[in-house]
Amino acid sequence: MWHSEKFARSEFSWNPEGEPHACGEPSSFITGKLRFLRSYLRTSPSPRLFLRWLLLFLMLSALLLSIASANESAYRAELDKACVGSRVLSVVAHADDDLYFINPSIDEAIARGACVHTVVVTAGYVDDPNNDARQRGLQAAYALMLGESGLQWRHSERQLAGKIIEHWQANSTPRIELSFLELPAGAHDDLRSRARPNLYRVFADDAATETTGTPMQRYNESELIAVLRAIIESYDPERLLTLQATRAYPVRHSRPVGEGDHPDHVIVAKLTMLAAKDLPRLRHIIQHDDYPIQDRPANLSAEQAARKTAILHAYCLQDRRGCADPERLTPDCDARNDSHWGAAWLCRHYPSPVARPAPIKR
Ligand SMILES: [Zn+2]
Repeated sequence: MWHSEKFARSEFSWNPEGEPHACGEPSSFITGKLRFLRSYLRTSPSPRLFLRWLLLFLMLSALLLSIASANESAYRAELDKACVGSRVLSVVAHADDDLYFINPSIDEAIARGACVHTVVVTAGYVDDPNNDARQRGLQAAYALMLGESGLQWRHSERQLAGKIIEHWQANSTPRIELSFLELPAGAHDDLRSRARPNLYRVFADDAATETTGTPMQRYNESELIAVLRAIIESYDPERLLTLQATRAYPVRHSRPVGEGDHPDHVIVAKLTMLAAKDLPRLRHIIQHDDYPIQDRPANLSAEQAARKTAILHAYCLQDRRGCADPERLTPDCDARNDSHWGAAWLCRHYPSPVARPAPIKR
């Protein structure tokens, strides 16, 4: 109950104290150096030496900011050239949520020549923060969707809203992008299952958490919203796709079947909605129902289900935990299924557009 009250507050009356930082604020690197200079000033007997340090620090900061800004300008210019069709940005909790719940939308967007960019907020699994297998899995799945086996990827670290974002772009075309924020993942049935803050505690308690990747970043809730907003503004998508923001969580096996949802999914969707609030150029936001679709009627054609399964299979060959058994992955399209949840998801797709104010002309 608490989380829905919080969402209502954040969604409809913006708290200025929690307002996102503007893109281009000093990075955590710079704030770290400022802390060092403050302590130096308190202890150093030599003001002239301090002034030299200060000058060096300011020059270094200006250089870093101008490099980041030039990189962002080049990135946007490349997108403007490549994305003559629409741009589709997906924000999901885990690598594979896009394949299980948002597809076939991403696959169809790639087929019609659109640019797609998928942002994954957490890394790894609740008991294993290593993200390598999940990243490789998504790269294999997007290579299959693009129809390029052996697709190579270009890695970079983008700086947005004071954070460093791990970013991959297909080598052969700028149309396909993946970004990983690498916050620690939570369990589907336990809100406080980890000693260090996971996504639920970042959202519920505003407890800052550390990312699991290198370089390590620290995020609290408003910083996470600011980064998501900066990614959305920078990409300027026509369609923003995410998971369902209104489900109850966590998954409780005592609940009626099909009711409980993964906390990471719901929280990422809520934060994405907050990040996208009042962006005037964004035309369409579409949420996608996820775990509970297992109990809704199958609604994909046999051909669509087979394609979705093939894409998941490519993913699970790299991350075998993503499927119960990658070698025997088959859609379960019965009205009532008792098999692995993933099998039921393969022939179901429940997008729901969110009402938006009339868009400003692009
Ligand atoms: Zn998930």
